[in-house]
Amino acid sequence: MFLSFRSIFRVIVTASVLFLLVGLFTVTKAYSAGGAQWDYDVESGHGPEYWGDISGAYKTCKEGMSQSPIDLTEASDVTLPKIEFNYKATRLNIINNGHAIEVKYDKGSYIIVDREKYKLLQFHFHTPSEHLIDGAPSVMEMHLVHKSNRGKLAVIGVLFDIGAENINLDDIWANLPEKAKQKRSVGKKINVIDLMPNSKSYYAYFGSLTTPPCSEGVKWSVLRTPLEISEQQVSKIESIIGQNNRPVQPLNDRELKK
Ligand SMILES: [Zn+2]
Repeated sequence: MFLSFRSIFRVIVTASVLFLLVGLFTVTKAYSAGGAQWDYDVESGHGPEYWGDISGAYKTCKEGMSQSPIDLTEASDVTLPKIEFNYKATRLNIINNGHAIEVKYDKGSYIIVDREKYKLLQFHFHTPSEHLIDGAPSVMEMHLVHKSNRGKLAVIGVLFDIGAENINLDDIWANLPEKAKQKRSVGKKINVIDLMPNSKSYYAYFGSLTTPPCSEGVKWSVLRTPLEISEQQVSKIESIIGQNNRPVQPLNDRELKK
């Protein structure tokens, strides 16, 4: 068989184009969710131990020295500034983002702490809790994510322990989107202040996002008083999302206050 220079050249060009297209498709697929694929599975190769290796954009997950969550223990007793809560009711827009169940918060709600205003963007849930208290996890942790006009993030954590059914979760729990990327808009309003304990005393430290890209400089306030939730309520959200807690990270030379 004789192949002309031209036909060999054509084969090479066709193969290169195919190779590029396949590569492009793979990259597009991996990044279409707004970043490289990650999860909480210890055996998938994309679990928390590997987040820092999955993508250059995630390297803070393994190189950062101020990571979250942490074990809240041996906190120094100081007088922490009061957090001023200015939360209004929001329409109930619930999304299953594939990693957590999240409620988008309508504009207009904010906290003021240390004379800085942080706007409430969304809240979401982790089962079991990400933060530990004296080494012990709670069954669930809610994170309220806020951002200041200067772009600084402040997250408030609320812990839930097993106890009575928490009726303030009912409107969300009755409308949990079961599949990743699913959204539900419910014709009701809720105020997340109803999902917080009366006592707003808290643990304070500087940490990171607990999901890739694990960005640091996050002002963490974890409320010291847990709320109650029933076993059935925990099973319901866990049956949809599974366990979605990042393991605790070293405190290093940070100060933990309460
Ligand atoms: Zn979170």
